[in-house]
Amino acid sequence: MNVPQLCLKCQTTLRHGTLRMECPACGAHWPLNQSIPSYDSANYHGEVTQETIHDLIALAEQGHWLTAARTMFRDSNPELYDYIADLNRASWIPILPIGQNSTVLDVSSGLGALTHALALNYHHVVSVEAVAEMVRFSKLRLDQEGLKNVDLIQTTLAGLPFSTDTFDLIVLNGVLEWVREWRSSGTSREAQIAVLSDLRRLLKPRGVLVIGGENRFGYTSFLRPRGHPRVRSITRMCSWLDALYRRLEKPGFYRSLADSPKSDGPYTHSPNGYVDLLRQAGFPVVDLWWPPNGYNSPHTMLRASNRAAIRSYCDFDRRYKDRLHGYALARQVRHWAVVDTRLIHRTLPDVIMIAAPSGDRDEQLHSGVPLLAAFEKQHLPGERYYADSLTTHPYKNKAVLTVGSGNTDTHAVVKIANVTLPGAEIVQQSYQKLQRLHAGFTTTDPFLAGSIPSPMGVVRVGSLLATMESSADGSRLLDLVLDRRYFDRRDRVRRHLERITSWLIASKPALDASASDGLIDAIPSEWLVAPGRDTGAEPGSAPERFSGAQHGDFYPENIFIDEDSQRLCVIDWDSCATGYPPLFDWFCVVTGLYYTHERVGGLPRGQTVEFTSFRQTYFEASWFSEVIVSLSHQLCDRLGLDSARLLEYFILYIVVRYRQFLSHSQFEEKHYWGPLNKQLYEQYYQFLLKNQTQCCFWKSPAPGLL
Ligand SMILES: [Zn+2]
Repeated sequence: MNVPQLCLKCQTTLRHGTLRMECPACGAHWPLNQSIPSYDSANYHGEVTQETIHDLIALAEQGHWLTAARTMFRDSNPELYDYIADLNRASWIPILPIGQNSTVLDVSSGLGALTHALALNYHHVVSVEAVAEMVRFSKLRLDQEGLKNVDLIQTTLAGLPFSTDTFDLIVLNGVLEWVREWRSSGTSREAQIAVLSDLRRLLKPRGVLVIGGENRFGYTSFLRPRGHPRVRSITRMCSWLDALYRRLEKPGFYRSLADSPKSDGPYTHSPNGYVDLLRQAGFPVVDLWWPPNGYNSPHTMLRASNRAAIRSYCDFDRRYKDRLHGYALARQVRHWAVVDTRLIHRTLPDVIMIAAPSGDRDEQLHSGVPLLAAFEKQHLPGERYYADSLTTHPYKNKAVLTVGSGNTDTHAVVKIANVTLPGAEIVQQSYQKLQRLHAGFTTTDPFLAGSIPSPMGVVRVGSLLATMESSADGSRLLDLVLDRRYFDRRDRVRRHLERITSWLIASKPALDASASDGLIDAIPSEWLVAPGRDTGAEPGSAPERFSGAQHGDFYPENIFIDEDSQRLCVIDWDSCATGYPPLFDWFCVVTGLYYTHERVGGLPRGQTVEFTSFRQTYFEASWFSEVIVSLSHQLCDRLGLDSARLLEYFILYIVVRYRQFLSHSQFEEKHYWGPLNKQLYEQYYQFLLKNQTQCCFWKSPAPGLL
């Protein structure tokens, strides 16, 4: 036990007895249950019923906590499963201004996801929880994970047995709303200030407090993809109502205290209200972030002060949904009401706050983020980086941080992985790949200069490995394409596609050269095996191997176009590999444009425009399909490919995409997108087989038709 526990009556350091914690001064004592000290407790309350959690514990005792959670919730309640299992719920770790040697307090740690993540990143964690069942589950979890740097303690906010200046970090996730439960007198606000002041006392002078909470006036809504199922239909009608509903219903996913006798509902604030509250409690410095998907799914985090980024996020979200699910008037109205009126900035539904008691901290806690400081040191003199936004995905061991430099007004992209978790090597390998490709791209052809990000450095800080690269100039093609008038301007579309074609031709020598020196891996050969066939290669039927490297994820989201210079910059080279069928990148970008003859209206729930777009792009005559066919022939000519095989290459593209998604869906946690896309590409494949003669690549017309 690294953090001393104090007598709650006389503050003397307690002695660890065999069955209890004892005060040598006043004789007070508290029991140890299975070696866990218990200072205070609360009646059961949680995300699931007490009966369910008993089943979960029983299952975890027989096997492994993760298997138990997976068995019970992965399919029946994926939201809850993520809540328990996804370590990226602590996505904010890389942007905290504290070092790895820190001592951390996780308050009301529940089923232990944050405690688990914190233990992988910091020297020592104290995890406190009031409910016995939660403590029991966390104990199993920590033991089974072999995490020995955690003190698990059963207690409430009213009984924290620690001394002043103990912690470098205190985490209060979804707790502040409920603190009145632990106080017998005063208003909710007074209770919150009292709790925060008490935590400030436990914090070291240079420590930080992280709070995840809901905004009192949050509109909670159209950006929250996974709302409570019972309010979903209402969400579509009116998001304000949704917010109200959530308050009234206290849906199970957010931990509720419905069975507590004192419950008068949660008490939350507006973002400014939180800042005020924190100031009063002795935290003059507050860094406010918006997690659009809720503070329990902070896979995207935007700095609240960065209004432009918030607006463009909302704008993108609306346009993307319009394109994918069909145009819906209600969505436009909501966007107008919330975003265009700028109400969004006052009504951010959830906030994550990083607060510091020390006045000498930079206003936005820019300084002292160890990862950024390490890059600053590498890039002396004069860079001062600050984090602007953070993006990760459930379970993925990679986070992307966009950073700005206050001094030089440059921007960069930092990719981060935790080396104690599987998959961290991908970030490093990807960086080496970028270095190699960048060198090739700059020497072979001046036309290609600047068309791939510049590698800027690698650092290792504690458990985190991070690489930095320059950010792309120009507009992201996806953003351009999502404009609902994009396909109205045919010349511009044609120009973009021609530009991409030229780039694919020009980059080939550099890609081929990189492929030959062994840094670029080959895709698995079974990715070329058609759906429904066994991948265990039958003798004599080994799939054809293709040489040369391709980007592998050449979607409009990874392509930037500068409209003035018409220069292209292609980012995210993680999937760059050899062995993709010819024109794979080309088919990726064309498919990703989501072309349709006309704007698609609102589709039934759950349907997307993807299949329609696939059919209209490749199987129905249009000006667009003429452009695609013509440029495909041009690519064949210039890349030395046989244009008679275009249809075959196209089929192989579908096959590889299908196999890619299949292999992703086999990573068990990728339940949220793997299977869906696998089905989509299987559908494409079947459709293509049945309608080959209608495909635009069938005996396709000779070039020069346009
Ligand atoms: Zn005592």
